[in-house]
Amino acid sequence: MSNKVLLEATQLSRYFGGKAAVDDVSFSVNQGEVVGFLGPNGAGKSTTMRMLTGNLAPDYGEITINGIDLLDKPGLAKAQIGYLPETPPLYKELTVTEFLRFCARLNQIESRQQQTAVDTAMARCGLTEVAHRLIANLSKGFQQRVGIAQAIIHSPSVVILDEPTSGLDPIQIREIRQLIREIADEHSVILSTHILPEVQMLCDRVQIISQGQLLFNDTIDQLSLQMQAHTLLVEFEQPLAADFLKQVEGVSSVETINLQRHRLHYRPDNNPTQALLSRAVSDNWRLTTLMPERRSLEEVFMKIIQKEEADV
Ligand code: ADP
Repeated sequence: MSNKVLLEATQLSRYFGGKAAVDDVSFSVNQGEVVGFLGPNGAGKSTTMRMLTGNLAPDYGEITINGIDLLDKPGLAKAQIGYLPETPPLYKELTVTEFLRFCARLNQIESRQQQTAVDTAMARCGLTEVAHRLIANLSKGFQQRVGIAQAIIHSPSVVILDEPTSGLDPIQIREIRQLIREIADEHSVILSTHILPEVQMLCDRVQIISQGQLLFNDTIDQLSLQMQAHTLLVEFEQPLAADFLKQVEGVSSVETINLQRHRLHYRPDNNPTQALLSRAVSDNWRLTTLMPERRSLEEVFMKIIQKEEADV
């Protein structure tokens, strides 16, 4: 992944009836990066996507795609973007080839190169064998592949996918995720979703939006750090009083689950594991379980969102 910035959004805002759907949101996407755009329903994801793809004008802010200002030069900038809206824009009475040829023309690919562009997009999306079938007769998973094919047909720098796996069955979801991973080899991808594990599986970076505001913008690794709960679950063969555990260096508090099971809380910079192990051995505490606990992504997500709601 390089550090070349392919998409930059600066202080984007959009109001509907006086209410901010997107409120002063800034971020950038680098070459080769997959960015997950995460948020509850009504958070402002689609509104942001529509602005990034030039389908909705922001009230404030700037967007540049590969250095081209989207508001000043929409034609040139849009040529650098591929977009799959939540409801794929498919003409179902056409065959896959007919539809993709139409998309190639819409994207102003030179006529000599249209067939090559169609063939390449079909090959990349696993559509070659259904090239001559009517889109209406394809399964939802295959229709979604056609949606992705139309988004990449003009080799855009940035591909924007809005809820690409919604409404698919588990097998189709796996296939579409695999396809997105392959697409990410050649394009930067912005992916909006409300499915948390999808972000973990596919994305390098996560942006969490809630009530129009960007609350988190960091790598998956940083998000994983937040998943560390800074608690240890300990269990002993025989009852052990919490007071003994409180004396262990680094333990800030002890939650007693039952006489043999306790949860130890500690500060992130002072992990008591080593001290606890030494003490357990020297005092013959008969430690049987020592387990660092983790918060689920869902808990971290809720914490980030609720913090903001509590601050409002
Ligand atoms: P998400 O995609 O995260 O579910 P949206 O961007 O669709 O969220 O919506 C953000 C907010 O903006 C919501 O409160 C929604 O009701 C409002 N909104 C979106 N589009 C319109 C519109 N065309 N007219 C009025 N309100 C809108």
